[in-house]
Amino acid sequence: MDFLPVFLRVAQKPCLIVGGGKVALRKAEWLWRAGASVTALAPTFHPDFKQMATTGRVSLKNKAFEPKDIEGFFLVIAATDDRDLNAHVAACARRLGLLVNAVDQPEACDFILPAVVDRSPVVLAVSSGGQAPVLSRLLKTTLESLIPTNFGQLAELAGRFRSRVKQALPSPNLRRRFWEQTLKGPAGELLLSGQTEAAAEEMAKALKAASERRQATGYVALVGAGPGDPDLLTLRALRLLQEADVVVYDRLVSPEILNLVRRDADKLYAGKARAESGLPQEQINQLLVRLAREGKRVVRLKGGDPFVFGRGGEEIETLANTEIPFLVVPGITAALGCASYAGIPLTHRDYAQSCLFVTGHRQGDRPNLDWEKLVVPRQTLVIYMGLLGLEEICQALIQHGMSPDMPAALIESGTTPRQRVTVATVATLSKIAREKLAHAPTLIIIGEVVRLRAKLAWFQEKQKNFGPEIPGQREKALNFIYRKL
Ligand code: SAH
Repeated sequence: MDFLPVFLRVAQKPCLIVGGGKVALRKAEWLWRAGASVTALAPTFHPDFKQMATTGRVSLKNKAFEPKDIEGFFLVIAATDDRDLNAHVAACARRLGLLVNAVDQPEACDFILPAVVDRSPVVLAVSSGGQAPVLSRLLKTTLESLIPTNFGQLAELAGRFRSRVKQALPSPNLRRRFWEQTLKGPAGELLLSGQTEAAAEEMAKALKAASERRQATGYVALVGAGPGDPDLLTLRALRLLQEADVVVYDRLVSPEILNLVRRDADKLYAGKARAESGLPQEQINQLLVRLAREGKRVVRLKGGDPFVFGRGGEEIETLANTEIPFLVVPGITAALGCASYAGIPLTHRDYAQSCLFVTGHRQGDRPNLDWEKLVVPRQTLVIYMGLLGLEEICQALIQHGMSPDMPAALIESGTTPRQRVTVATVATLSKIAREKLAHAPTLIIIGEVVRLRAKLAWFQEKQKNFGPEIPGQREKALNFIYRKL
């Protein structure tokens, strides 16, 4: 982030615009809308400036710029069509410690003016850090269409109730939940449909009910976070993350996904890495129960899917025994995420009709697997938690009849920007993985389907090149690629 987003109070403050053209005019209008006392300085002015001056919205100083002109102002905007002059104005302003903006020269700016969606008192400001104002305006247009025009009245209604709510509901948690439920619920709906008084009545009713209830009921949502890429979260997972009071997360949950958790929510790390000493399972179970009993909305966030090698079953068992409401939200399991991001289809008409997910986790000192079931023709084998036992696993597969040339892939941190894919054979994979210092989390895919990766590798490259920044762009690119396939 190159600029810190803040909202500036300029009401009644003296603000100077250097420039008299259309660009300067637009800036003057914005300052005036925010209540500033605006002065514009230029040798000549656009006719609309004169119009603005006759209604007292701006004072005009008809002259060429000199450094002493900026004395006494709170902020200065250099908006002439002369870049050098703008830079000069910016330098003079900075010398006096004034806030300054020079149009189209982000490097000379203390602040920049964002694209604005005005639903006062709610204001959305979009900025590209001065890099691509057109992109900000495109986004602004999208937001304009998404946010009802009377959205601001919702904030006014909330303002009217604010002190009453504070009195009636002493706990900040209860208050936040009250606001979320009423603003998104019937009161909010009534207001947005223009029924202001009915909305106020509904809110008063909801407040009465909430203050009588006092203690909110908590719940636990066992949520699958997917394998890493935040784009692979389900919509429900995202919503729960943004409503949570507490998120208890695993080592596997990527930082990109943790970024999407509501900012004020507590984030508790429950660990569970093999070597690290995370909380023991029983303690995690008890923690979830305690938090929910405190009335909190708890999200137990687990990598991939909670029911695939995730011990989700054990966690809900405890919750069920204590009668705490819970729900389970599935996630994309590592096998599916890694396979698709590595360009390896798990089944294929010509190569594999079945697919088996197993855990390579050692019990005692070696992986304990039913090898006969693993070495089956036309079957893809996916091994979770297999890095540590990789060598023994590959040897055992060969001993039980798998061809040493069977293609095998090791995918590290699949679907994240750190993804690395190593393709070898069952005979060579563990040696190569050691040489490459592969580290967890890793998923192993063994089977003829791995051969298809070479064919699909270009697809994966393309997929990477279409970032998620521009809405719809990635989908378009993928459709295009699928058609080509
Ligand atoms: N519930 C999870 C699996 C938990 S077991 C799921 O459904 O995906 C942990 C194992 O999952 C890791 O040891 C690794 O084998 C695999 N794994 C999880 N995320 C991964 C990722 N992004 N890349 C590669 N393997 C991953």
